Amino acid sequence: AKAQGAGQLLWYGAELEASTREHMSLLQAFTEAPRLGQLYMAYQPQWSLHSGEIIGFEALMRWRTADGRHVSPDAFIPVAESSGLIIETGRWALITALQAVGQLRRAGLQGFHMAVNVSVMQFQAPGFVDMVQQALAQTGVGAEALELEITESVAMAGAQQVLQILASLKAMGVGIAIDDFGTGYSSLSYLHQLPADRLKIDRAFVSCLGSGERSAQIAEMVLPLGRQIGMKVLAEGVETSEQARLLAALGCDEAQGYLFAKPMPLSELLEWIKVRPS
Ligand code: C2E
Ligand code: CA
Ligand code: CA
Ligand code: CA
Repeated sequence: AKAQGAGQLLWYGAELEASTREHMSLLQAFTEAPRLGQLYMAYQPQWSLHSGEIIGFEALMRWRTADGRHVSPDAFIPVAESSGLIIETGRWALITALQAVGQLRRAGLQGFHMAVNVSVMQFQAPGFVDMVQQALAQTGVGAEALELEITESVAMAGAQQVLQILASLKAMGVGIAIDDFGTGYSSLSYLHQLPADRLKIDRAFVSCLGSGERSAQIAEMVLPLGRQIGMKVLAEGVETSEQARLLAALGCDEAQGYLFAKPMPLSELLEWIKVRPS
């Protein structure tokens, strides 16, 4: 039994080492990615379920490695976060997305917002609000065209500090969206205090719509809640026209998902908006 115990330990050790090695090699490769031009942004349209008009875009980071493969942001964003690289990369993402606003306007699109994801570490780093201000000034885009997406867990975690940062951004005119809504444990009283403009219902609660599952009720509950506290509610991950129909019937105004469009690099998006469905 003793020998087996030691073997177990060795085995776990090897497994741990393998995952650490994986993390290290991913980190090493990601560190080089910006310099090698391997990062780019993709933009996914968000649309109004009433009018069919485009209301905005979500900017999503993409990493194409030297061998042409894409690494999922769900894999590299945590690596960028834990290493602190997200601070610089996030700044680049914000500036790139704001530059895209200019190009979309020159292509004739008006009255839309650009939503940019912000991770916990970025949000809580000193100087975040100043960085946003500088990015807006540098690109000449007005604050009202920018929306920052923070996840429900970040919004709910740091109470005072988070509320202060959100209030500063709000005062500048920047919009705030609460991402992945429904996955955390928001207290209603706290949600009420948040200076946010939009709740994004997580895909998990959209994909089960019409299935009769209990989780489908989340979407049904969030919609009147959002309305009551004066926030817009956008449904994420809408893939079928049945989902869009059910959401509209529940009073949901806005959606994003493969049904309408996938995230696209800017050049592709500029082509797409010429022939977009509406
Ligand atoms: P998220 O912010 O919840 O982004 C939505 C994800 O859903 C995106 O995955 C998008 O491509 C995907 N999606 C959109 N419509 C559909 C649909 O109809 N069906 C399905 N199955 N998926 C859909 P993506 O691009 O792989 O990004 C994953 C996550 O990585 C994001 O989740 C976000 O948390 C993070 N992320 C991506 N880009 C950035 C970034 O620039 N900064 C930060 N901090 N995080 C980012
Ligand atoms: Ca998001
Ligand atoms: Ca989300
Ligand atoms: Ca998500």
